[in-house]
Amino acid sequence: MTVETREFKTEIKQLLDLMIHSLYSHKEVFLRELISNASDAIDRARYEALTDAGIQENDKEWTIRITPDKEKGTLTVSDNGIGMTKDEAVEALGTIARSGTKEFLQTLRDKDIKDNPELIGQFGVGFYSSFMVAGRITVLSRKAGSKGDMGVKWESTGDGAFTVEDMEKKGKGTDVVLHLREDEKQYLEEWELQDVVHRYSDFIEHPVVMEVEREKQSELDKSKTVKLREDMTLNSRKALWLREKSEITAEEYTQFYEHISHDPEEPLKVIHYKAEGTSEFTALLYIPKKVSHDIFHKDYKIGPMLYVKRVKIMDHCEELLPLYLRFVKGVVDSSDLPLNVSREILQNNRQVEVIRNNIIKKVLETFGELKKDAYDEYLAFYKQSGSVLKEGLYYDFTRKETIADLLLFPSTIAEEGKRRTLGEYVDDMKEGQEHIYYMPAPSFEEAVKSPYLEAFRAKDFEVLIMLDEVDDLVMTGFEYKGKRLRSIIAGDVDLNKTDKAEKEKTQEKYQKLIDLIKEELADQVKDVRLSGRLRDSVCLLVTDEGDLNPQMEKILRSMGQNVPDSKKILETNPDHALFAAMNELFERDGKSPVLKEYVKLIYDQALLLEGSRPKDPAAFAKSLAQLMVDGLKKG
Ligand code: ADP
Repeated sequence: MTVETREFKTEIKQLLDLMIHSLYSHKEVFLRELISNASDAIDRARYEALTDAGIQENDKEWTIRITPDKEKGTLTVSDNGIGMTKDEAVEALGTIARSGTKEFLQTLRDKDIKDNPELIGQFGVGFYSSFMVAGRITVLSRKAGSKGDMGVKWESTGDGAFTVEDMEKKGKGTDVVLHLREDEKQYLEEWELQDVVHRYSDFIEHPVVMEVEREKQSELDKSKTVKLREDMTLNSRKALWLREKSEITAEEYTQFYEHISHDPEEPLKVIHYKAEGTSEFTALLYIPKKVSHDIFHKDYKIGPMLYVKRVKIMDHCEELLPLYLRFVKGVVDSSDLPLNVSREILQNNRQVEVIRNNIIKKVLETFGELKKDAYDEYLAFYKQSGSVLKEGLYYDFTRKETIADLLLFPSTIAEEGKRRTLGEYVDDMKEGQEHIYYMPAPSFEEAVKSPYLEAFRAKDFEVLIMLDEVDDLVMTGFEYKGKRLRSIIAGDVDLNKTDKAEKEKTQEKYQKLIDLIKEELADQVKDVRLSGRLRDSVCLLVTDEGDLNPQMEKILRSMGQNVPDSKKILETNPDHALFAAMNELFERDGKSPVLKEYVKLIYDQALLLEGSRPKDPAAFAKSLAQLMVDGLKKG
């Protein structure tokens, strides 16, 4: 029979290289990964056996078996699950990189794995992690339900290539044989294996069995002991979520969380409850302290594990959780869903809808409690995932008020280390204030220095600072308790509505100068108008209501999108001395070249104030220097 040699895919080669040379101190996680793969393989076989009796073959029980062999120096992890065909083995163990692999590599490279080997454990590192302890790995597999005894043998030393060949295999399922490195032989010791299984895989639902040596009293001569070998199940297999809350310790909750999330930190909050009535199910949900690094990535897997009457159906049931709560992890075990539930059924199922609504309600309530009772912890969590939660304002129409109440914003009047809620904002609104004002900004520091705030400060109106990319999308047009949220950098803001007559007078006085500026800047701006929001600055640029704000433009451009230059509106401050002086000059000599120079300069200043660059920085600097010289000469 022929032996084929195949190259690993590039990303896998890189991954192997990292694994083999890493200084990771918890190499024992390889066993967790192998057992988890074995358990998944059994779950799949059991699930398929529901509709195809041939899958079960002659096996009565689903088992994962660990076999250390001191003579050969091998550790074998076997399962009687779904198994792999030759093609599947080639793909799964060598030519198709898992979706997360690229990102895993990127993160490791960015953070330098050598200094942070603990990062390895935070990813589902998978099958290849076994190369941390094995110099060679042999996999024997046979697909469940296949005719005859022909399976596949896969083998590799992890150095860039692997081989596959046809090979006889009696039972269905997979044996993974690790030829342990000389200095990793502790994984042949019973106590070590027991300990590792207990620590990392205790909750696995299927029995993890190992033959162990036991001393027993001899039946023949009671004064003597004899050594016997017998099977021992190493994991307690308890479905934690089905036990009574009062009997579960905090440590057990955390252990299970670690098991399902690979997050080394304990969770922020555990939500564990049983629902009865229209829908019977148990949910064990976790809100993490730190959200996972790939939560914004398209491959991020959302949704809790779904069990039906203790049978695992899938690892991530996205139908049970809205995207804006995607950081929630856990398990849902339903008594009502059919065992052979398919994706199509999940998508239009009344029970699923009921569970989903129930979970959303619980999670949002829990956030409400956290915000009230553990503000600092909530704030720490919110700083990382508030932007995800906010998406709910946009997508979950029926709950947007509830979600809005959970949001926290930096603000021009927030106390040190605190943020403000919309509720507090509305309660403290000043007389005559119509709207909830906010300013989108790249950082708080930049925001508070901004001239856009001048008139609001003068009026003592609070302005919320919005730092998240999604803000402008979700906040525009949002109404909270009948108050509209308005961006202070978009549209016409006029806080001095009362003096209408005076406004008209000012307008008239400056109209000609404004027309000139408009003409000079016709290519750059949409319009020029007098500002109702400035006090100390001479001018600034605002977006027209409905146009993209400058940050959004920057974001879209950085994502490679072709954003057309939308023209802004230049607002000038009629109360500023410079503007008055320009008007005087204009009245003396409407064609003055100095005036034209000034128009360019105030426009460039406005660009700087919104965080952009003057179109021609050299010309700007030159003009400015010339003005300084002129000023010094005069002085
Ligand atoms: P993951 O399990 O996260 O997909 P792994 O690298 O651990 O990633 O495994 C890659 C793939 O190899 C699995 O998705 C599965 O298709 C296959 N595989 C691994 N172990 C087994 C096993 N014991 N039985 C059947 N298939 C397996």
